[in-house]
Amino acid sequence: MAKINDFNFAGLKAIVRVDFNVPLNEKGEITDDTRIRGAVPTLKKILNDGGALIVMSHMGKPKGKINSKMSLSQITSAVAAALACPVKFAQDSADAKSQADALKPGEVLLLENLRFHPEEEGKPVGIEKDDPNYDAAKKEMKARQIEFAKTLASYADVYVNDAFGTAHRRHASTAVIADFFDDDHKMLGLLMEKEVTAIDNVMKNAQHPFTAIIGGSKVSSKLSVIKNLLDKVDNLIIGGGMGYTFVKAQGGHIGDSLHEDDLMPEALNVIAAAKEKGVNLSLSVATLAADRFDNEANRQTVDIFNIPDGWMGMDASEESLENWKKIILDSKTILWNGPVGVFEFENFAHGTGEIAKYVAEATQNGAYSLVGGGDSVAAVNKFGLADQVSYVSTGGGAMLEAIEGKTLPGVAAILGE
Ligand code: AMP
Repeated sequence: MAKINDFNFAGLKAIVRVDFNVPLNEKGEITDDTRIRGAVPTLKKILNDGGALIVMSHMGKPKGKINSKMSLSQITSAVAAALACPVKFAQDSADAKSQADALKPGEVLLLENLRFHPEEEGKPVGIEKDDPNYDAAKKEMKARQIEFAKTLASYADVYVNDAFGTAHRRHASTAVIADFFDDDHKMLGLLMEKEVTAIDNVMKNAQHPFTAIIGGSKVSSKLSVIKNLLDKVDNLIIGGGMGYTFVKAQGGHIGDSLHEDDLMPEALNVIAAAKEKGVNLSLSVATLAADRFDNEANRQTVDIFNIPDGWMGMDASEESLENWKKIILDSKTILWNGPVGVFEFENFAHGTGEIAKYVAEATQNGAYSLVGGGDSVAAVNKFGLADQVSYVSTGGGAMLEAIEGKTLPGVAAILGE
């Protein structure tokens, strides 16, 4: 399998799938260019070698239709600034052959939003799943997806995938295209390599004790993650809004705290499975409760099994944090996904900030730590600790699917599985 750092792109054209799905304001200006900066090392490596670049990405959810608000033409100048070289633009990703053919070493062509073509996602449009013709439409779209991928592949000699954020999708540009390149001419980009290594460090090669900290709002969105982790971790800390479902399932009184009644049986299954597998499941013991969902709400620390009516658990208490601190500082591998409180409110951000500090401290003491999933990334950034953990993942959905134990199509298309 080709490795980007061992590959010489001199005289070759590389088509690179990046994640330039950057947020824009109403004026079409980029409000956060992290994703563009994330792709720069891969793109520069190719240009510095003397290769030519065809860069492709999606933006937003145009659902297979042209939508000027999601045109990548809006970010051409930002990409040019990041690469410190001019960037040409191809108005139609499916009709860029002549522009690609004309590219010289060191030149860059950015393709229009791939998702303007329904073939990119490969889902039939304008037909519901219960329609008797749906299966036929799906089959036809899959065939068109292969053709679209073939067209994209025809622009270049080499395919590089550096879009971790869409690695969990089997789209034309993220996976199908890889079939049109032999093993020596397809590879992961530098950002993808880092993400895959980070995930392997926790999911395949973890040093023990291995602790997962899972927080956030809902059990439903993280149940598969929790179940898969039960076979791998020594300690499982469950905090944040999802913890109250576990408490209620055990007969606790949680007042007005966030919870999902239909997931109580699953919560009990998790508790039983943890016991059976010898996993130390650590739930919150007391909580900082509020009398309304507001930063300025009245606050009191209460036993998590006895939250008064009219009050809701909003942040981890000192007692819970003391327990979790010991566990985290004792760990050799740490995976953190999801805040342990409503950290967007200053008065309920303390617990999440403390967790970030413990993870940073454990990392300083030699543990390997991976932080991933939108809100925990926002949390380590908020507390200025992003550079004090081993790795901060950029792909929320892809990272969650990887820790659910699923194969990522974008990775498998290159590395095989
Ligand atoms: P998730 O996207 O599932 O990781 O959830 C992140 C969200 O969970 C954040 O917006 C937090 O404010 C929220 N959250 C964490 N703890 C609580 C809680 N105790 N009550 C309500 N929401 C919470």
